Amino acid sequence: MTLLKLKNISKAYKDGESSLKVLSDVDLELNNSEICIVMGPSGSGKTTLLNIAATLDVPDEGSVIINNKELDCRDQKQVDSIRSEFLGVLFQANNLLPEFTIKENIEMPYKLLGVEEHLDSDMLLESFDLQAKKESFPDELSAGELQRISLLRACVNKPKMIIADEPTANLDKDNLFLMIDFIKKINKDYDTGFLIATHDERLCDIADKILYLDNCKLLKRDS
Ligand code: ADP
Ligand code: MG
Repeated sequence: MTLLKLKNISKAYKDGESSLKVLSDVDLELNNSEICIVMGPSGSGKTTLLNIAATLDVPDEGSVIINNKELDCRDQKQVDSIRSEFLGVLFQANNLLPEFTIKENIEMPYKLLGVEEHLDSDMLLESFDLQAKKESFPDELSAGELQRISLLRACVNKPKMIIADEPTANLDKDNLFLMIDFIKKINKDYDTGFLIATHDERLCDIADKILYLDNCKLLKRDS
């Protein structure tokens, strides 16, 4: 099964007269339970590509096919159901809510969106060995712990696909390896596919597919 297909995607940022081309005729396919890594220099368009795949931005040209259905961004019902049931997102900076506990933060996606099919937050915290932190607040946790909790939150609604933008940025080596273990475990335990943008070569060890974005083009990289 194909989770995500991007076909002939082009995108430019326009500012008055000038236009900055970022993506040109880009194709990408993510299959069920696959881990796909997008590498490329800073400013090459990785975040733009991930935002398009995550329904957060629209391309100038091309089509986005999620769960075998072409995305129509004017169809709010379709977009909402993709975001609540099919997709989890994780950004570079942690975006946990400071006034809520870790447990409450993890439960937020299904409580907010009224999703019935979800994982149990206690079970999740326990199986990832973070149960001791459940009543803590975000400012009491380390950067590595916050990023791992953000990943657990991204998977609580049992998404088929998680889109993660530089999930290991600013982590030291120990936390980087813990984060990689988490991604691997979620991928294996829940059959979740991952589309990950990163600079970090060490993430490539767990990738099924490595792509390289440069000069507006996405190419398959020989690993
Ligand atoms: P990456 O994630 O690989 O660093 P981005 O997708 O963030 O790349 O950015 C690609 C290019 O597009 C960069 O030159 C960036 O400055 C530009 N860019 C990104 N977002 C915007 C925006 N909202 N408006 C104008 N230019 C943008
Ligand atoms: Mg980026």
